[in-house]
Amino acid sequence: MSLTKLIWQTSGSNTKTNDVCDKILSVIDNSIQEQNNKKEKRKYLGASSLGDPCSRKIQYRYMGVEPDAKNQFSSKVLRIFEFGHVIEDMAHGWLYNAGFDLKSSDKNGKQYGFSIADDKIKGHIDGVICGGSVDMEYPALWECKSANDKSFNEFVRKGVSEVNPIYAAQIALYQAYMDLSNPALFTVVNKNTCDIYFELVPFNKMLAQQVSDKAVDILKAVEHNEILPRIAVNSDYFACKRCEFRKKCWELGNESITI
Ligand code: SF4
Repeated sequence: MSLTKLIWQTSGSNTKTNDVCDKILSVIDNSIQEQNNKKEKRKYLGASSLGDPCSRKIQYRYMGVEPDAKNQFSSKVLRIFEFGHVIEDMAHGWLYNAGFDLKSSDKNGKQYGFSIADDKIKGHIDGVICGGSVDMEYPALWECKSANDKSFNEFVRKGVSEVNPIYAAQIALYQAYMDLSNPALFTVVNKNTCDIYFELVPFNKMLAQQVSDKAVDILKAVEHNEILPRIAVNSDYFACKRCEFRKKCWELGNESITI
């Protein structure tokens, strides 16, 4: 169909316009879901999720358990994730262009990261700042996130450890396994205003050890065909209410779990 014809049709009727627009959105949504379904599932414990307070949830993810049907990521959420990646690339460019020696991949384009326990525990970092005009300790781990206005302001007020223990654990693990014990540069870009928040995060060795121990416990449980205890005594616990495995975990039981 020519563009002229499409414009003529859409301008002639609001119903027609809505119909066409809905179809475009539907085609895009389906395409996003298809692309997402084609992605290979993680077969390792990712440093980005090990800070979750529920070990059972992390175990389910590691085992490749399908989330409850109603908790599958919508196309809109997948777009939000992708948007976050683009923002992080932009933040990388802002630092790099300002003269910071920020490296995120090796000469073959492979993202820097670590892999331990026969590749069962892995992490990929956003970058390492090896130098720059600002007087700080180099090399420093660089970890970048994007957040909506409300979350951004929480980070500004309270700092990463209090606002998001999952991010704090991720940073500690990267610092430990990438041998980057200088304070990390945690960066958050506000998706609403484009403000930027920087925080220097000292290496928390104890936290890194706790999270490593947790990862080992999860691997052992899987090896012994055990499912780790729940984090709560009933499904109304706030963490369970927003967990992608709530139904499987509380209503269907472990026998419902297919991998
Ligand atoms: S529903 Fe609750 S206990 Fe079960 S995996 Fe999720 S967070 Fe953990």
